[in-house]
Amino acid sequence: MTRALVLGGGLAGMLAATALADTVDSVVVLERDTFPDAPVPRRGLPQGHHSHILMRGGVEAIDELLPGTVDLLYAAGAKKRGLPWGALARGPEGWMERIDTDAYLLLCSRDLLDHIVRRQVLRDGRVTVREAVKVLELTGSASRVTGVVTETGEGQERLHADLVVDATGRGSNAPAWLTALGLPQVREDVVDAGITYVSRWFEAPPGTKDDFPGVMIQMTPGTGKPGQGAGLLPMEDGRWILSLFGSRGGEPPNDEDGFARFARERHHPIIADLIARATPAGPIRTYRNIPDRRRRYEKLALPDGFVVIGDAASALNPVHGTGMSVAAQCARLLRDELAGGGLRPKLTRRVQAGIARINGGAWRLATNTDQGLPAVRANVRLQGGALADRMAARVARTGCRDRDVINAVFGVASLVKPMTAMMSPAFLLAVLRGPRKPALTAEQAIAQFPEFGDLLPYGASDRPTRNTA
Ligand SMILES: Cc1cc2nc3c(=O)[nH]c(=O)nc-3n(C[C@H](O)[C@H](O)[C@H](O)COP(=O)(O)OP(=O)(O)OC[C@H]3O[C@@H](n4cnc5c(N)ncnc54)[C@H](O)[C@@H]3O)c2cc1C
Repeated sequence: MTRALVLGGGLAGMLAATALADTVDSVVVLERDTFPDAPVPRRGLPQGHHSHILMRGGVEAIDELLPGTVDLLYAAGAKKRGLPWGALARGPEGWMERIDTDAYLLLCSRDLLDHIVRRQVLRDGRVTVREAVKVLELTGSASRVTGVVTETGEGQERLHADLVVDATGRGSNAPAWLTALGLPQVREDVVDAGITYVSRWFEAPPGTKDDFPGVMIQMTPGTGKPGQGAGLLPMEDGRWILSLFGSRGGEPPNDEDGFARFARERHHPIIADLIARATPAGPIRTYRNIPDRRRRYEKLALPDGFVVIGDAASALNPVHGTGMSVAAQCARLLRDELAGGGLRPKLTRRVQAGIARINGGAWRLATNTDQGLPAVRANVRLQGGALADRMAARVARTGCRDRDVINAVFGVASLVKPMTAMMSPAFLLAVLRGPRKPALTAEQAIAQFPEFGDLLPYGASDRPTRNTA
């Protein structure tokens, strides 16, 4: 009889638990928090007050691990939006043409996503959860983890396991737990652009259609000024969420006036004009200190029986929107590795190396951009420099109006294509040639979306035909 303990019942923990359940006899999730019965906020998930996009790569991984889950999400009101077909987007270098690519996002509240995933994981009894259980430390030795010590209202308890998976999120104490077992300190890479999120929920104005596109305005690195951006996204139950974000020195304010002003100053007042028609549905919430940070467990002689997954292993600046999708892809890798021979010696090092590969791709994507923001603090040598910044700007400028370029860029960003998709001769040639059409004005970009209808005082043209050329 084999037993796995999963520490933390967030998205990574729940998906890891389901990945284990095919191979391990007993899978128990230990969660410090208590889970609500409905898709509502919980204390252990403070980031749930902010917008969460699930990339196509994450959608596909979740559906492979838990077939039917994505349909349940859509049935509960989640939206699918093509990139950039489905949402008015301004990239780092300009407004985007409404081009149909292979990339898409799934949009719903984090609370709904976690609620449905949790229900799916727990539905057949193969995974059980113990709530209000805080994990204090690991047991075992530097060569083998044998379980954990927990604390509940009734005192401390030692639990035995053949495999322990740490999914306790950004605040994971695994580095200290491992040094207590005699391992050296794990190396931690940090690139910190000082990102702050400020968000608010809204009731959409009456008459808003289900195909409301939303607006995404990205930060522009490499200008010497702080990066600032915003995303107004349609959610389930006729709600919108607006998240404003800024890097060090350009943090969005969290008072009513400042919030609306920051939205208004993002290249065009469209977001401010839209929320002026909507009804606030909650307070303005702030989340500070969100660096890119990855822990290099794959470089340690990690003890058998211990794996680190999700934000506990690598947590990135959320403007890149990859955290949950990466967690889902890592859980899928865990399932696949277990399918190839079950629990076995050295398995965990192999799994951790695979997790590091997946995390590494997302890390490069995030830090390539974040290193171009001013006053960035990093303990690793940053790649690139001025030439790389110029090349990134050219990719972004060309991608605004070139399908092949933007298809590759969003394919990589949505975690369905490898980085090499942006290195092919055809891609590089297109980027060197540069944009073949003039940049769109904000008005032209907005006019591509008749779905805004009369929510805006300024107009949209008739619905354009899909541009796949
Ligand atoms: C402002 C913001 C916006 C974001 N937007 C996006 C986005 O658009 N797209 C995206 O993909 N990602 C986004 N992210 C990142 C995303 O939230 C994380 O990648 C994701 O939550 C990682 O899941 P996780 O399960 O690893 O950690 P978490 O979701 O943080 O879960 C950790 C769990 O462990 C529990 N726990 C902690 N310590 C213990 C303990 N000692 N014992 C027992 N239980 C414990 C916690 O209660 C919690 O339930 C955003 C993050 C932030 C901060």
